[in-house]
Amino acid sequence: MITFVPEPHLLASPRGREWPVVPGVRTAVTPEPPSSADVVIVGAGPAGLAVASALWHHGVRDLVVVDRDGRPCGRFFDRVDLLGQRVLRSPYEHHPGVEGYRDCELLDFARLHWSVLTPVERREIRMAQAGHRSVVPVDVFEAYCRHLAASHHVTERTWRGSVREVLPTSDAVTVRADRFSVTARHVVLCLGEERRSAPDTWWGGGHPPRGVTYWDEPVPGAGKRLAVVGAGLTAAHLISNGLAQGREVHWVVREAGERYQCADVNSSFFRPEGRARFDGVSWSERLELMGRFRRASIMFEFRPTLEAAEAEGRLIVHRGKAITRVTPGVGLHLEDGSRIAVDHAVLALGTTPSIGDGLMPDDAVLDRGGWPRLDERTFAYAGAPRVFAVGAAAGMALGPAARNIDGHRVATARVAAAVAGNLRRDTPLRTATKDVARV
Ligand SMILES: Cc1cc2nc3c(=O)[nH]c(=O)nc-3n(C[C@H](O)[C@H](O)[C@H](O)COP(=O)(O)OP(=O)(O)OC[C@H]3O[C@@H](n4cnc5c(N)ncnc54)[C@H](O)[C@@H]3O)c2cc1C
Repeated sequence: MITFVPEPHLLASPRGREWPVVPGVRTAVTPEPPSSADVVIVGAGPAGLAVASALWHHGVRDLVVVDRDGRPCGRFFDRVDLLGQRVLRSPYEHHPGVEGYRDCELLDFARLHWSVLTPVERREIRMAQAGHRSVVPVDVFEAYCRHLAASHHVTERTWRGSVREVLPTSDAVTVRADRFSVTARHVVLCLGEERRSAPDTWWGGGHPPRGVTYWDEPVPGAGKRLAVVGAGLTAAHLISNGLAQGREVHWVVREAGERYQCADVNSSFFRPEGRARFDGVSWSERLELMGRFRRASIMFEFRPTLEAAEAEGRLIVHRGKAITRVTPGVGLHLEDGSRIAVDHAVLALGTTPSIGDGLMPDDAVLDRGGWPRLDERTFAYAGAPRVFAVGAAAGMALGPAARNIDGHRVATARVAAAVAGNLRRDTPLRTATKDVARV
């Protein structure tokens, strides 16, 4: 039997290298997008980028991408950089590039830039080529996303804007952002996920007490004792950062123990046979599969560092301890009646999918326990057939992998084909827009 040996040095890829600039990168030429388009994509994260690139291959050119940040994948890289995350947990095969069009995939791109890579990174490429698990540097992934955005003309079709409303009618969909409005024949929502808030019982709801922040905010440098609450990769990065700063770190894990594994979702769900387990089963069975196979976990490579720190007493792990209350100062009160006193606490409680509620009317989203009702094949909203979802929101239609980069690729292939097919059959938008004005 081969024993997998985790190697912490894999986590330390350099960040911020110079990558050759793709010729012809252009940003949006007008300050505001046109008032109508064939397709609007809301959200330019890895999912939105994948959809825009796939639509380009389908010949869809009249496209508007709207994102709060205005940069393709901006929020994703801001989040990983804030945590100091240098490598992805997903392998080279998982990328937002287009399948089936002989496009440049992530592994091709990395090999093209061999001279920029470290010996460790080159070895990971060889691992990927040999069909083994491989670790992808964030730096490579970012340069690849830039390449995708430029080569599929996504950058020049992306506008900064915060979408406030998505109003579907039978003929068109109007997307109202803070500064402009676009009416489209189809809209694809690629909204990603928001951080999960602490339960109201911890401090009565609202802003956290002094000395407590969430994982997507900067961690203050002062103070010797730091607490990290959560069991996922985000928690692992926060703990490692605290240890590297010489702090005493308290790790609160509600489960009986931490879990180390390659992906945060059972790998079978990345394959067709895994996804088939989700097809045709009841809602409650899907919820059960989701709960069983999508649980917080940490990449193997962290294990040696965290175990050594615990043995040395620099890391104190509070396993199987649920928090009941958080008081300023900072006190973390646990269900066994004990209290952990620290200078600062960071909450890494996971994320919740953004499903379009708050943007679309309730009868379009048809929210069921935090999930929208989608067509199982095309991921169109059952209550708004011109609106589609790619990313986490498609979780109960596609399965646990919907929240990962590889899941976006699978959803993208279906959504792009459905949108392009509809556009070929559809009436011209000029007529549709007039109808919207009358509604
Ligand atoms: C720290 C971290 C590390 C991760 N690492 C991995 C990994 O290694 N591999 C993996 O497969 N997955 C990873 N994930 C999961 C990851 O979030 C997704 O794979 C990926 O970011 C999801 O892409 P997305 O486009 O769906 O969402 P996002 O990247 O969040 O993009 C959504 C975009 O939509 C924008 N948006 C949302 N609402 C609006 C609105 N109303 N108006 C305008 N714009 C809006 C957001 O600002 C954002 O830019 C990681 C997640 C985190 C938080």
